[in-house]
Amino acid sequence: KISHYPAGLWSHGLLNFRNKPYILWQQATHRMEIDGKSAGSLVEDAVVWANQHGLVVALKDPKFINPDVAIIHAPLSLMPVPYPRGRFELAQQVMPLFNRLVDAVATDEAYLESTLGPAALYDTFTGRLLKTLQATRAARALHEAGREVVLGVHRSDYMLDEPSGKFLQVELNTIASSFGCLSALMTRLHLYMASRLPSLEPSRLPANPTLEHIPDAIAAAANAVGFREEGGVVVMVVQPGERNAYDQQWIQLGLWERHRLRTVRMTLGDIAATAKLDEAGGGTVTLKTGEPVCVFYFRAGYTPTDYPSEAEWAARELIERSNAAKCPTVAYQLAGTKKIQQDLARPGVLEKFICDHRDAALLREFFAGLWSLDPNDVATDPGVAAAVADAIARPEAYVLKPQREGGGNNLYGEELRDTLITGGERLSAYILMQRILPPANRSVLVRNGQWSESETLSELGIYGTFVRHGNNVLLNEQSGHLVRTKTSTSNEGGVAAGFAVLDSPYLV
Ligand code: ADP
Ligand code: MG
Ligand code: MG
Repeated sequence: KISHYPAGLWSHGLLNFRNKPYILWQQATHRMEIDGKSAGSLVEDAVVWANQHGLVVALKDPKFINPDVAIIHAPLSLMPVPYPRGRFELAQQVMPLFNRLVDAVATDEAYLESTLGPAALYDTFTGRLLKTLQATRAARALHEAGREVVLGVHRSDYMLDEPSGKFLQVELNTIASSFGCLSALMTRLHLYMASRLPSLEPSRLPANPTLEHIPDAIAAAANAVGFREEGGVVVMVVQPGERNAYDQQWIQLGLWERHRLRTVRMTLGDIAATAKLDEAGGGTVTLKTGEPVCVFYFRAGYTPTDYPSEAEWAARELIERSNAAKCPTVAYQLAGTKKIQQDLARPGVLEKFICDHRDAALLREFFAGLWSLDPNDVATDPGVAAAVADAIARPEAYVLKPQREGGGNNLYGEELRDTLITGGERLSAYILMQRILPPANRSVLVRNGQWSESETLSELGIYGTFVRHGNNVLLNEQSGHLVRTKTSTSNEGGVAAGFAVLDSPYLV
C-alpha cells in the first residue's frame, strides 16, 4: 500500500503520530509514503536479498559457535538517494584527472617533504611515513628506476553543497578505499527495489563496475610486475579482526575468477614475521611458502593503531623497498593527506601538477574552501587570518581536520573554536575546511534487521583506478561509486565506524 503525494502538499503538523506514514522515497516533485507494515515487509525482503547476494559484513559476535564465519547484512538504506545527473556525471568524468593528479604529486617527493614537513613535526604518524619515504629512497631507485609499477585504487568523496549546487570534495582517499564491492551490490539491491516499486526507474541507477574494475586494476599491476608464472600472488594487507572482510573477499574472488590470481591475507605483523626480501637480487619478496609477491594491496596501515610495534613499521619498510607493486606506496599515501589537499587548493599549486589550464579549472570546480593553520601562514596571509577569525566567530561553518584517516577524528563547533583560540605551532598538523552543507533527505535506514526513518545527509564517493609501468599509463579510469547516508544530526559519516549506512545514487 504505497501512496504518492506531490511533495509540497505534505506537512508534518497535520499527521496523527500513531498513523504516521513513513516516507519511503522523496525527490524534487514526488514523495512516496508507506504504512509501517508494508515498510516492514519491504525491509525484510531487502535484508534477505542482501544476505542471499553477499551484501554482508562479519558479525564477530562471540555468542556464535564460530564467530569468525558468522555474517549479517551490511547497514543499508532501503531506497536510493536523488542526485542531479549532470553533477554526478561530471564527478565521474574528472576521476581520471584526480588519478593523474595523485600520481604527479606522489612523484614529486621534494614537494611532499616540504609541504608535510611542518605538519610532521607535530604529527608523529605523518612524520614516520615521511621518514620511511626517505629511508627507502635508495632501495627504490635501485629496484625500480624508470620501470616501477604504480597501482592506484582511489576514492574521491564529495557532498552536494546546497548553497552552490556543486559537488564539493570532502577528501581524496589513496589508501584502503573501502566498500567498493559492497557498493556494487547496493546498486543491485536498489535495482531489485526498482523491480518491486514501479515508480523507481532502473535507468536512473547508474552502472557501478567496482566488482570488475578493482580486481582488473590489481591484476594489470600484477601482470606488469611479472613473476605470475613463478606462482606470484597478491598480498592483501589487512587489520586483525576486520568486520568488513566480505567487501575485501569480493576483490579476492574477482582476482581469482577473472584472472586466476591468488590472494593471501596477511597483517603487517604476519609480514614482519614471515616475509623475506631479497635485497641483493632485485627486491623480490617471498612468502614462507616460497611464493613471490606481485602486489601488496593495503586495507590496513592508514592509522597509527595499525602499527602497534616496530615490527609493523619494519614490514611497511620491507614492502616499500621491494619490487612488488604497492597500493599505495608511502608517497601515494602521503599524497592523499588532508594537508596536501589543502595545499593543492592554494592559488597556482594545483596548476604545477595539472598543466592544462582547462583541466585544472575543472578540478577546482570541486574544491571547497581550505586553509592552512601553520602559524606562519596565519601571520603572513590575510586570507588565512580572516578565515581563522571567521571560524572562531562561526564554528558551525567550518571543520577542523588532523592528518588522520578512518573517520571520527575531525573537530566541530565548540571544540573547533577552542582549539583555534588556543592556537600554537601544533595547529600546523591541522587544516581548516569550509563546512559543506548537503541537502537533507528522508531515508529508511536498516541496521541489524531493524529499521527507522530519519532525516539524513549523504556523501558520494567516486572510485578511480590507475596503473602505470614506468612512463606507460596502462589504465586510468573512473571505476564506480559509493553513497553513504547518515542521520543529519551526526557530524561524521563512516559506515565501518558505525555512523552511516550504504546507499546508492538515483539520478534526477
Ligand atoms: P576521514 O579520512 O577520516 O574519512 P573525512 O575528511 O572524510 O576524513 O571526514 C570524515 C567525515 O566528516 C566525512 O565523511 C563527512 O561526514 C564529515 N566531513 C568532513 N569534511 C567535511 C566538510 N568540509 N563539510 C561537512 N562535513 C565534512
Ligand atoms: Mg579518508
Ligand atoms: Mg572520509
